[in-house]
Amino acid sequence: MEFHVDIGPQYEGEVVRKEDLFLEFGGPKVKCKFELATVKSPEEIEHEKVEVIGPDISDLEPYADDKGTGSYPIAILIDVAGAELDKDAEAIIERRIHMFTNMTEGWYHMNQRQDTWLRINKDCAKKGFNSLKELGEIYNLLYTSEMSIIEKIQTTIITDPEKVKELLPHALEVYAARDERARTLRDEDVDTFYGCVLCQSFAPTHISIITPDRIANCGAINWFDGRAAAKIDPDGPIFSIPKGDLIDPVKGEYTGANKVEAERSLGTYDRVYLYSAFEHPHTSCGCFEAIVFYIPEVDGFGVVHREFKGNTVVGDTFSHMAGETSGGKQVEGRLGTGLEQLRSPKFIQADGGRKRIVWVPKDIKERYKEAFQADGVYDKIATEEDVKDTDELLQFLEKVGHPWMTGEVELPG
Ligand code: SF4
Repeated sequence: MEFHVDIGPQYEGEVVRKEDLFLEFGGPKVKCKFELATVKSPEEIEHEKVEVIGPDISDLEPYADDKGTGSYPIAILIDVAGAELDKDAEAIIERRIHMFTNMTEGWYHMNQRQDTWLRINKDCAKKGFNSLKELGEIYNLLYTSEMSIIEKIQTTIITDPEKVKELLPHALEVYAARDERARTLRDEDVDTFYGCVLCQSFAPTHISIITPDRIANCGAINWFDGRAAAKIDPDGPIFSIPKGDLIDPVKGEYTGANKVEAERSLGTYDRVYLYSAFEHPHTSCGCFEAIVFYIPEVDGFGVVHREFKGNTVVGDTFSHMAGETSGGKQVEGRLGTGLEQLRSPKFIQADGGRKRIVWVPKDIKERYKEAFQADGVYDKIATEEDVKDTDELLQFLEKVGHPWMTGEVELPG
């Protein structure tokens, strides 16, 4: 099969910046976008079929900041079948969209699930890559050559805005069901954690350590997904980590996690705390769904997610903070995180957990209402509607009697 551009791991770290951008699908300017892999029965799949529904690359206006063109909705549907495949594999197959898009010269993929973001550069378009059908054919080829467990595949790429909008709720239900499944399992219930180095092409010292209490930073891979991935593709980017001994139950330091950190971070780090944002926090790549950030003025934490477009209470936007947090570093007081981690009882437990959260966007406060209510802090956390800066935050927290400020919260250990 001939393509207009080259394909290979050498393109994985390639970034498409604004200056080189031909056009983009998904991303922060587009409301409806998602990617979804589904395991189906063989009869439901027409092997190697690619269908594009909606305007194609050649039909769309290129990116022009002044005209407001160049950002479009997208849904990528990967349907697969195979004798050894079951539902457990779906999240893993879906996450490979990230890797396979980035292996394609001139293409750049960021984020996951309903946050997906694809960019094509001008050079790629100039070489004649003007149809999403070609991208679908590349997916079909890479999936079947890199994952032998996939026996049949068909790819559908939708750009029709109405159709993407119509199908998005189903995708959200699937993601929610995956997250729900992992909620009752705790780290002490298992002997094995999982590691993922898929993002090392952009963040060379980053390893996501995935445990029952810690969904991956991208929010797309939970412990069950890690287990499925390590089983179906033992030589792939997701691997098992024998948990080893528990060195510190409060900070979440395990010998197994430390060992893998030392081996896979190019020797940069040799310790990691899974339940703290200080000293040896988890590394942050660039795909995280949200950032947990320390606010020194009130000695508490804020959480901001990718969709929040305004200034946080410390005056920075998500993207500004992401620049300082990403790249695979351990940054004290900053954690790239999957949002589902907010539900875990071990979420920064060494630092006071959810009871030390003092500011979140309203959207997050509502989405995780139950978890905040369980800790008695739902009414005590400020949002962008309550305060504009840290001076106002301090006044707000004192007024509502936030338990962290009144000294009711005791640090464990
Ligand atoms: S964020 Fe972590 S788990 Fe998700 S793809 Fe990147 S390395 Fe893997």
